[in-house]
Amino acid sequence: MSHGPLLDARVWQLLLEADRELAEKARAQGCSCGGKLHSARYPRKPRRGVPLELREDYRWRESLCCEREGCRRRTTPPSLRFLGRRVYLGALVVLVSAITGGVTERRAAAMRALVGVSTRTLQRWRAWWLVTFPEKVFWREAKGRLAPPVDEARLPASLLERFPGEGAGDGLVACLRFLAPITTSKGYAMAV
Ligand SMILES: [Zn+2]
Repeated sequence: MSHGPLLDARVWQLLLEADRELAEKARAQGCSCGGKLHSARYPRKPRRGVPLELREDYRWRESLCCEREGCRRRTTPPSLRFLGRRVYLGALVVLVSAITGGVTERRAAAMRALVGVSTRTLQRWRAWWLVTFPEKVFWREAKGRLAPPVDEARLPASLLERFPGEGAGDGLVACLRFLAPITTSKGYAMAV
């Protein structure tokens, strides 16, 4: 497991495109009332990791709102970039947690230098993967589709390993796509 994908601008571009496609799909479906959906993006301030040229695009989380007076229902499509309301991007939460595993001082120091994640944040993410995530309805249903079973004591590294991918980052992108259902409106309960 390496941090290589985090340094690959193509990975951030792929995640951005995937999010736009998911938003387009949701928009094409329209609101459940039959109304049209228009863009009502949420501002986000991802702290680290995104290449300079993509930073403006990463300041927004796609979301849609029904244009019908009296409905105005919000539809928030799944996202490969934003895992809940965290200031850190999903890619970082997955990859950095996978790399650091049991958080040692040395690993924490390396991650601090690379993406500016504090030891306390790493520990919080670790707790989320080991305690909160395994209890999620999404995971309890999804894990049955993965054979042999994923070792939950080694999350998220054990999950990431199931998405080997071709080049640097492809596995990470595939893993984030798998996790995307937990990022929808309902999944927001997970926000730390
Ligand atoms: Zn509506």
